[in-house]
Formats: sequence, C-alpha cells, structure tokens
Amino acid sequence: MRKAIGPDWQPLEEAVPIDVFRAEVWAWAKRLGVTERVREIHFRTMKRKWASCSSRGRLTFNTELLQQSAAFRRQVIVHELLHLKVPNHGKLFNALLKAYLDR
Ligand SMILES: [Zn+2]
Repeated sequence: MRKAIGPDWQPLEEAVPIDVFRAEVWAWAKRLGVTERVREIHFRTMKRKWASCSSRGRLTFNTELLQQSAAFRRQVIVHELLHLKVPNHGKLFNALLKAYLDR
C-alpha cells in the first residue's frame, strides 16, 4: 500500500509493541480466512510504502505503522491481507475492503 494513501492524523507518541501488531495481523487473517496463506510477516522502514504483500504470502509492514493509530493500522492490515484473496485493486477488492472496514 502506497504512502500516498496516508492517515490524516499525527503519529502516536507511544508506539504499539511489534507483538501486538503481529497479533492484529493474525486476528484479521482469521477473519478474512487467509491464515493458511500467510507465510511470513516482516517489518522494515520503507520510504514509499506502508506495506507490501507477495503472492507467496510474504507480508512486509513499514515499522512506522507501529506509531500510527489503531484505525489506520487496521486499514493497512486489511488492505494487504485482502491481496491474498484478490491480487489487484479492482472493483471486487474495493468492495471487500469497504465491507471489512465498515464492520
Ligand atoms: Zn494494494
């Protein structure tokens, strides 16, 4: 997910622990029914992206996400996990994304 899609708020003063973030990813993976497709979860700093996802189930999240709000983390997590179901940003992707985030 490109950084051009950014949060409207300032980073949190206190970062969420990496294990908490991982737990959030797994919780969403369960909800989306993609736990078996998630192979690896990595963290690193990235200049232009919040996260990326390979077709083989390798997810990489920008460490800066740890300082973002729960709502924005959720937006990025659901976006990336959804790519394990839908690889593009087409109509289906956007409809599912909206459905999951509006719940
Ligand atoms: Zn995407």
